[in-house]
Amino acid sequence: MTNILMGVAASPGIAIAKAFRYANTEHIPQKQTITNVETEAERFRQAVEKSKIEIDEIRKLTEQRLGAQKAEIFESHMFLLEDPDLVDASLDKIAEDQLSAEYALYEVTTGVVEMLREMDNALLRERAIDVKDVSGRVMSHLIDKPYATLSGITEEIVIITEDLTPSDTAQLDLNYVQGFVTEVGSRTSHSAIMARSLEVPAVVGVGIAAASIADGAMLIIDATEGTVIVDPSEEELLEYREKKQRYEERRVQLKLLAEQPSVSKDGQHLELAANIGSIEDLAKVLENGADGVGLFRTEFIYMGRSSFPTEEEQYQIYKHVLEKMNGKRVVIRTLDIGGDKELPYLELPKESNPFLGLRALRLCLERQDLFRTQLRALLRASTAGKLNIMFPMIAVLSELREAKRILEEERVKLQQEGIAVSENIEVGMMIEIPAAALNADHFAKEVDFFSIGTNDLIQYTMAADRMNKSVAYLYQPYHPSILRLVNMVIKAAERAGKWTGMCGEMAGELTAIPLLLGMGLNEFSMSAGSVLPARELIGQLSKREWANLVEDALVMGTQEEVKQFVEQRSHL
Ligand code: PEP
Ligand code: MG
Repeated sequence: MTNILMGVAASPGIAIAKAFRYANTEHIPQKQTITNVETEAERFRQAVEKSKIEIDEIRKLTEQRLGAQKAEIFESHMFLLEDPDLVDASLDKIAEDQLSAEYALYEVTTGVVEMLREMDNALLRERAIDVKDVSGRVMSHLIDKPYATLSGITEEIVIITEDLTPSDTAQLDLNYVQGFVTEVGSRTSHSAIMARSLEVPAVVGVGIAAASIADGAMLIIDATEGTVIVDPSEEELLEYREKKQRYEERRVQLKLLAEQPSVSKDGQHLELAANIGSIEDLAKVLENGADGVGLFRTEFIYMGRSSFPTEEEQYQIYKHVLEKMNGKRVVIRTLDIGGDKELPYLELPKESNPFLGLRALRLCLERQDLFRTQLRALLRASTAGKLNIMFPMIAVLSELREAKRILEEERVKLQQEGIAVSENIEVGMMIEIPAAALNADHFAKEVDFFSIGTNDLIQYTMAADRMNKSVAYLYQPYHPSILRLVNMVIKAAERAGKWTGMCGEMAGELTAIPLLLGMGLNEFSMSAGSVLPARELIGQLSKREWANLVEDALVMGTQEEVKQFVEQRSHL
């Protein structure tokens, strides 16, 4: 019988495919010593043998279904299970350091993965994923839990999972993965943001009901409405196949706007930029004709690994992004770790309110070694394009001043070392804490630009955790209290002759765009997939007209009134 589940429409589109259940928790063992080396070594050897049998079965199945070429990956997994750097090294650790098989494997894998990631050769770097995959399989036998992986998917599926990490999404083969459904998350959780940048349909925050979807069940996900239909009827399948086709036709039509400028009906030029979290996201940015990168969330470079990226690694990444954007503006945000973005190897003490704790720039000012490494990499890359550096989570002027002072110190050091640094770097800050919005007049004098981070600004203004579904009703971007703060920031920047962007999710929402245009927002930065619908809408709106209309919205009392008003006036 058909069963309809409701969630949050996180990344638009329609997918029709079978469910693939995925549990992604990487097992990180406790460090444990053992007394009986031979028993432990034997346990390890057996786990390797069981993994070999399993991989061989998957290899045969893949060969039958998809041909020898697609099955090759599993041969290389077999080779890894013979590799002395992995297998013998783990056995040596068990014998010499008397470590448990789990911990020995974990330590050896971490070392190998790290070494591969440092390689210049992209193919070798990609091997890191295979090593992790194989080692995860062996680990699953050691701890006697079934192993789940995303890298061996060979048919069209929709992933059903609790949540996806950035490293999970890095493994997704988009030829097969049609969409995903998660139990937790909201429109602004990181799995949702990643789905949008990959343009994969996603419904998130379905809750525990997602756990009831059977592996292999037929699914329709309508990620425009936020619904998941389990075991659909023939009529439903027909209806949604047609809907999917109409959706895809519209996308083709929108792509015609990719080469066009972003101009309002009354001739005002704006910047419609895209948010990225990795080099891989650039393909969609270019394909959708974004006017720049308005937010590079650099923390993703630090996540899904077990040690800090080096200055050189970061330099290569930033340089690549600047070069690819070919002179268009690239706003790179310094590390924003903390809150929902954890970094296990940083070993920070647990906080009871991580969103209110030692997060983002607060952490960077305390851990200046990390901050200075990143700033040096950014400064060195600055000659490759049009770089803007942006500091996250600033509440008070002293934080901004300290960050700028450190940046200046690193610039001088580099110049003394004879390393070229661009003279045209703009330095700005995010406005995501109400205190900064209220004090924007003062900040505006000391920065080149603002970028409003509404995901956090809303959570802090409403005192509602952006990850907590029970208070999701308070995530109200159109609430007049939020609109007044946003307007206040834009006007403060205007008075100081500076520009304002917005890189929170609100910037790409069709209901928000008329209001933001009217307030005078200069740059809108959003998921790459939202750029073209936004460009189309802006072409139909008059900035002058909305500058008047927005005054009415700002004095309303509720989000509902504002939404209704905008929808009526802009014919959305
Ligand atoms: C924001 O808070 O709006 C923002 C863009 O930053 P993040 O979502 O990465 O916290
Ligand atoms: Mg933020």
